[in-house]
Amino acid sequence: MEDLRVATTTGTDTVLEEAAVEEFKAGLRGELLRPGDESYEEARTVWNAMIDKRPALITRCAGAADVIHSINFARNNEFLVAVRGGGHDVAGTAVCDGGLVIDLSRMKGIRVDPTRRTIRAEPGLTWGEFDQETQAFGLATTGGFVPTTGIAGLTLGGGLGYLMRRFGLVCDNLLSVDIVTAEAQLLTASETENEDLFWGVRGGGGNFGIVTSFEYEVHPVGPMVLGGLILHPLARAKETAQFYREFTSTSPDELTTYLAFVTSPDGQPMVAFVICYSGPVDEGEEVIRPLREFGSPVADMAGPMPYTAIQALGGDLFPHGRWNYWKSNFVQELSDKAIDTMIDQFSAAPSPFCVAAFEHLGGEVSRVGEDETAFGDRSAPYTLIITSGWVDPAETERNVEWARGFWEAMQPFTLDTVYVNYMDIRDEADRIKAAYGAEKYERLVSLKNKYDPTNLFRLNKNIQPTV
Ligand SMILES: Cc1cc2nc3c(=O)[nH]c(=O)nc-3n(C[C@H](O)[C@H](O)[C@H](O)COP(=O)(O)OP(=O)(O)OC[C@H]3O[C@@H](n4cnc5c(N)ncnc54)[C@H](O)[C@@H]3O)c2cc1C
Repeated sequence: MEDLRVATTTGTDTVLEEAAVEEFKAGLRGELLRPGDESYEEARTVWNAMIDKRPALITRCAGAADVIHSINFARNNEFLVAVRGGGHDVAGTAVCDGGLVIDLSRMKGIRVDPTRRTIRAEPGLTWGEFDQETQAFGLATTGGFVPTTGIAGLTLGGGLGYLMRRFGLVCDNLLSVDIVTAEAQLLTASETENEDLFWGVRGGGGNFGIVTSFEYEVHPVGPMVLGGLILHPLARAKETAQFYREFTSTSPDELTTYLAFVTSPDGQPMVAFVICYSGPVDEGEEVIRPLREFGSPVADMAGPMPYTAIQALGGDLFPHGRWNYWKSNFVQELSDKAIDTMIDQFSAAPSPFCVAAFEHLGGEVSRVGEDETAFGDRSAPYTLIITSGWVDPAETERNVEWARGFWEAMQPFTLDTVYVNYMDIRDEADRIKAAYGAEKYERLVSLKNKYDPTNLFRLNKNIQPTV
């Protein structure tokens, strides 16, 4: 084997002798991959096909000991580090060029305690895997709406999902984490232990260390819920969105409804109510009746279904392997002008895989105190998310420009704040402070100064230390 060139945090490469690689490998329980190894190509591939990064080394950690060993190795050599959970970050922060990827995707241990209604989960799990385990006991907690998204990155950024208006954000259901800091110390953070760190990991992303175990509260849900899609033609989008605005202003907490602008498989632009009612199904039928009775839907595909089925619906809309670029903001009000602009902009979508949506927040999300967690903005009743997706790399510029133009046009109607997990950090690093707001950002900087003063964990929605 030749000596390896590895990227460092100083911006230069360093040469790593074969003996040093072997010594590092010998201390791992999991695999160490490098270019040329059989699993290397698969291990460097993430959800967004636009990302094509070639790490020097990938450690597929088997447990916390591997994480500690990898952090020590990276810190002592000043290597550039990326941390991988489910690999869904749109900007591909889970991988890096030339550096070390600390890959947690093999850490899939999970244990439900149905008596205490808690769950211990390792960071390599996806939401599909997590939901399958909890639903075996008729339990669930708020989780992402695409089954292949990782629990780790999603939880650490805050976590939106169909159950959030009833049970809060994913991070609101977090009871504790085990986290390995930049000093390679394994700490437990909870309401009673390392409280400052616990505040930071509930919205502050992967800035403060690598979480090796999440403990969540879970709740009785399902197995059947009421949900699915009701589709209207884009020509009726204005009335549909105005109705959505009125309807969501009085929705009960058990109901989460998104308004999604999509293209049907036969190429028709549509606007859809995406519904999940997680209370008793018969009560839900009454609650969603106005949604069913509104206008003349092209299709009403809402009905009773297993909670795991509704959690899987988003998978087809956002499969692995397409090219993707995203823009987002929180939104205070769906004014008529905002709705008109949304419709105009979506009408010019360059690809059938482009989706734009308003997601209804509120309920328990807004009842948790703004200062209780690092999550950006709990006062906003909606998010706006614009996702461009395409399959032909030659279409990249058109799709990226469409999302940017759409987002610019919506700026008069949005807040400055944005959900960090929806940011495409490839060209948005300057939005981090606005994402959290100045006050919260300062608190995050203090925490970063304490737990990661050299910014070892920098390939993320980065809070830059000031020490
Ligand atoms: C198709 C799709 C659907 C989505 N749906 C939702 C949704 O319903 N709700 C929602 O809130 N968000 C959603 N998101 C956004 C999602 O929250 C982020 O993409 C999130 O980063 C995904 O986590 P991951 O572990 O898969 O990502 P990764 O790309 O693996 O990780 C992202 C970042 O998280 C950090 N990280 C990951 N694991 C750890 C760890 N164990 N310790 C410390 N830091 C870590 C690292 O900084 C890493 O760069 C969706 C994204 C996609 C692509």
